[in-house]
Amino acid sequence: MNAPGAWDPGRIAGFLSTRSPFQYAPVADARGARLEIANGDRPLGALVADPTLVQLAITLESTGGFEPAEAHAVVAAVVALAREMGLPALRLATFDPVIRDAARDAGCTGPLRHSLVLDMSSPETPARQRPELGTVLEELVPGVAVRPPSPPGMLRRLVQAGTSGFPGMLTLVVQPDAGPALKVAIPDRADVMMESVAEAVDTSLAVRRRFQNSLVHVRTLSFDHSDQGFVTGRYGGTANPLVGVIHLNAKLVLGPGPATLARQREINQPKTPSAGVRAPFSRVDAIVAHEWWHQVDAQFQARRYRESIEFRRQLGRYFGVETIEHASLGGEHGASASSHAAYVRLASEVSPYATTNPKEATAEMFKLWWCNVGDPSPAVQLFGELLQRYFGVGAPR
Ligand SMILES: [Zn+2]
Repeated sequence: MNAPGAWDPGRIAGFLSTRSPFQYAPVADARGARLEIANGDRPLGALVADPTLVQLAITLESTGGFEPAEAHAVVAAVVALAREMGLPALRLATFDPVIRDAARDAGCTGPLRHSLVLDMSSPETPARQRPELGTVLEELVPGVAVRPPSPPGMLRRLVQAGTSGFPGMLTLVVQPDAGPALKVAIPDRADVMMESVAEAVDTSLAVRRRFQNSLVHVRTLSFDHSDQGFVTGRYGGTANPLVGVIHLNAKLVLGPGPATLARQREINQPKTPSAGVRAPFSRVDAIVAHEWWHQVDAQFQARRYRESIEFRRQLGRYFGVETIEHASLGGEHGASASSHAAYVRLASEVSPYATTNPKEATAEMFKLWWCNVGDPSPAVQLFGELLQRYFGVGAPR
């Protein structure tokens, strides 16, 4: 085909639609060629193609509902486009976990939370075999060694099948270069999105490193359906401080999971949604950070009760009440005017879910602090200052 300069949205749309079963509708946009992608009457997202002389940069925005087969088809079409143009590299900017998983299957590489790159200078290779999860974790999470899973005995298999909601679970032992190992249990299935598991492990170890003293007892991360709220898509995670286990909704790391969650949310919209985070952070990062905070918070209250009260008072003062509890109560009938005002501000400055109770308020703030991009909001800024004062930890990065 012609030189990059000769590319126009109409021609890109024409090419992509011959390579995948979707519609690509050009949209006027200053940044290269922008195309809206739909599968029949279902919008999937948008694609921005930006060819230069050295690479084809493609940004893929997603509505969050890509099925794995759709993601594989879009990626295959994009790779074919880059090959057709004869450029040495394809750079794919996307933060949709399902598309990223398909892109890695197609041979794209790159660190977590960054663009993925496919070297096009080598000849086309047949579809690769999926690597082992342990290999992927070692590749993507800095400084870890992964011990292969030991096959569970009959009894453990039965217990796991009963509690996890999956017939088979795989448990990997992730050993960081410092600190105790982290057990990671996932459904034993072929459609696990390994990068999403790696992200969860990466965030978990990073949070644990910073709050070592409060978190040494948390040794297990389990992706399962142990809670009915996971099956219905209502919850992303739960933290059990007593036994040091964090349960995460397995749908977050299984190929068809994100599309299922998107459908479930559409049917059953949450009354008090939790805060979203901005790219490059993913939903997995957000949920993992939130749940780890519950573990930190439980230790804080158990071991440093008076300080934990003071911590909540400081947060409350920011919202114009004596303590953050009063902001949570502000939604109740007959609440004082100041309490109600704090409740409204907590919902808008943090999230509606933060108004549930003080534990969720601080977990939501922690999540926004951990996954902050750009200038933090005043509430997140204050939360960070309190973490510095009470836990001696600085900004996450
Ligand atoms: Zn929570």
